[in-house]
Amino acid sequence: MKINQLYTDNELRNFTYIIEFTDNTAMVVDPWSDTQVNQFLSEKHLKLKAIINTHEHWDHTKGNEKLVEQHGCEVWAHRIGIGKIPALSRLLNPGEKIQLADKTTLEIIDTPGHCQAHLCFIVYQKNKAQAIFTGDILFNAGVGNCHNGDVEDLYHTITTKIATLSDNIKVYPGHDYLQNNIGFTLDREPSNQMAKEWLHKYQQADLFKSPLTTTIADEKQINTFLRLSSSEIRNNLSTTLESNKQVFIALRSLRDKW
Ligand SMILES: [Zn+2]
Repeated sequence: MKINQLYTDNELRNFTYIIEFTDNTAMVVDPWSDTQVNQFLSEKHLKLKAIINTHEHWDHTKGNEKLVEQHGCEVWAHRIGIGKIPALSRLLNPGEKIQLADKTTLEIIDTPGHCQAHLCFIVYQKNKAQAIFTGDILFNAGVGNCHNGDVEDLYHTITTKIATLSDNIKVYPGHDYLQNNIGFTLDREPSNQMAKEWLHKYQQADLFKSPLTTTIADEKQINTFLRLSSSEIRNNLSTTLESNKQVFIALRSLRDKW
């Protein structure tokens, strides 16, 4: 099993992922362009079995219909996505673990906050968690907006379902927002040395060939929303806030205007 991260080069900076198996089958997470997905599949001689959508927003489902037409593949997503996700054919249940090829398991986690119908997917190999597809819940060094969701749900999702994951799990987000998010981190926490290093690495990296990948451990060092008890972050807020939840809500609102 191999996870391929494709940068889509659109103005929203989406990522599409192709999970490739040794039996030459593949699954695609959040297809933006059917052309880009098809080019990858044909170069590698892969047969597309299913599309998985993290949520219903159009930039994560745009490739669904054409890929279903061309490959007759299934579309897996949240049941609240009925009527919103094009060609949805399999409703996923929170907590469900789906066996895939190559001793790979996909665990479905319900992750509201950015919108109601949002799921994240943990990939296990031989029972060890390797990676998580986080859609628009967790980005590199940031979290999703709540324009169509609920900030208290997002706080709950981030603190109880993301921050609790094992440190070595790789993070595969729905968009490339690393540079802006690191800017926000450094504005809150100018002394954050790791954030400066990641910004430097980002400037050297080639998004098209090998996008930078963080782990949960990295995120705990560079993602403001996973650093709610940092005294530097708290002291830089305009008012003194008691709880982590209040700090999270204040940071999310600050990020909206930043
Ligand atoms: Zn998005």
